[in-house]
Amino acid sequence: MQRMWRVAICILVVCFGLFKPDVFGVNKDDAASDQKIVQASAAAAVTNDEAMPLLTVQASYDTGKKLEQGKSSAAASSQNDRVKANSLGSEQKILYLTFDDGPSKNTEQVLDILKLEGITATFFVLGEHVLKQPELVKRIVKEGHGIGNHTFDHKYDRLYGSFAEFADQVMKTDEAIYRTTGVRTTLVRAPGGTYSNFDQGYFDAMKAAGYQVHDWNVDSGDSKRQGVPASEIMTTIKGSKIASKLNVLLHDSAGHAESVKALPSIIKYYKDKGYTFAKLTDQVEPIQFRVASKLKWSRKQVTQQEVDKLTLFSERLGQSSLSAQTIKQVPNLILHRGEKSLVLASSEYGIKNGAIEVSLQKLVEWIEDSTELELNTDSIESYVSTNQVPPKSGKEKPVMDEHKKQIVVPVRETLQKLGIAITRYVYNDTDREIWITE
Ligand SMILES: [Zn+2]
Repeated sequence: MQRMWRVAICILVVCFGLFKPDVFGVNKDDAASDQKIVQASAAAAVTNDEAMPLLTVQASYDTGKKLEQGKSSAAASSQNDRVKANSLGSEQKILYLTFDDGPSKNTEQVLDILKLEGITATFFVLGEHVLKQPELVKRIVKEGHGIGNHTFDHKYDRLYGSFAEFADQVMKTDEAIYRTTGVRTTLVRAPGGTYSNFDQGYFDAMKAAGYQVHDWNVDSGDSKRQGVPASEIMTTIKGSKIASKLNVLLHDSAGHAESVKALPSIIKYYKDKGYTFAKLTDQVEPIQFRVASKLKWSRKQVTQQEVDKLTLFSERLGQSSLSAQTIKQVPNLILHRGEKSLVLASSEYGIKNGAIEVSLQKLVEWIEDSTELELNTDSIESYVSTNQVPPKSGKEKPVMDEHKKQIVVPVRETLQKLGIAITRYVYNDTDREIWITE
């Protein structure tokens, strides 16, 4: 009996033109959002410094392409000029403050200062500190800053003794960050920087696995030795290079109270010079040191197996974070009828032309179920039977498979046809609930 009028409702709804053989459209587009990782390695040049290695600043993919086109035509050449003007002009000065080795208690004050100044920065955290100070890591993310991976324990001999160990620590830290904050980061900073630590194999492997490895082009000198005073940090900053894009290295680990002390002056110094502060993202072309001709370490070459392992891990983490975001963004839809509720996950409903759409089968099953208790089936059944429209001649009656979940119908319209009204509803980013007449 139940089964019979369920089919009848299906037919009714179909005949009223409500049939929409569509899958739920929720966030279909969002999910496909920018996943591209641009990592061109067109190398531009170079400054030298005793303490610091030769710098290789990677040109952006677009810039590189435009520069190439510039050779062949006048129009392209004017475009080329604009590109040059953009990258060197005073309007485009951008600065990335980066804090390594945290989080620690100093991170709290760094965050307070950044908040006060209304700017964002990037924190390259150590996995072991993430596990010890999860609240600070959450605060970093909550306050809109970038978060990056600085390996798990920062131990040079292990990290640079073999790529397998380096990759393991990257994975462990990625996971710690993701579990703590829900953020999947692809930003990495190599402890000690890449110079004479990374060989080309390390660079290639990280790139293949979708990471962006960021060195820096301004070293605040705050970790030259223990307790470098704030005044000396400022002197170093003022003596450092000025370019349209700066990545400034600082530390927020324990023992770096002087860095915290110097921070307001550092920010003021660069603000006065017209810099815009930003956080690193996966779209920012990394500043990278060039590969040293002689490494500090002797080790075997990176193997394809090691690269594959890291790549697989990285892809999987990326996928799970994407799907988690989708679930998080879209709350459940809950329908209430008296004491009975129907809870639909984000994948089980959608919005089309301003109307909430749900699976016909789920809706009908639930109404049957809630109607049963209320002994109210008669009205619906009579409604269904009197309104059944016989199929037009020559046209096949649509054959409905009860178990086809793709049959999607608008809730309000469908309920109306069944003589059920919506009495109240809440619909916002966090709550989606509908109350209907009993
Ligand atoms: Zn470090």
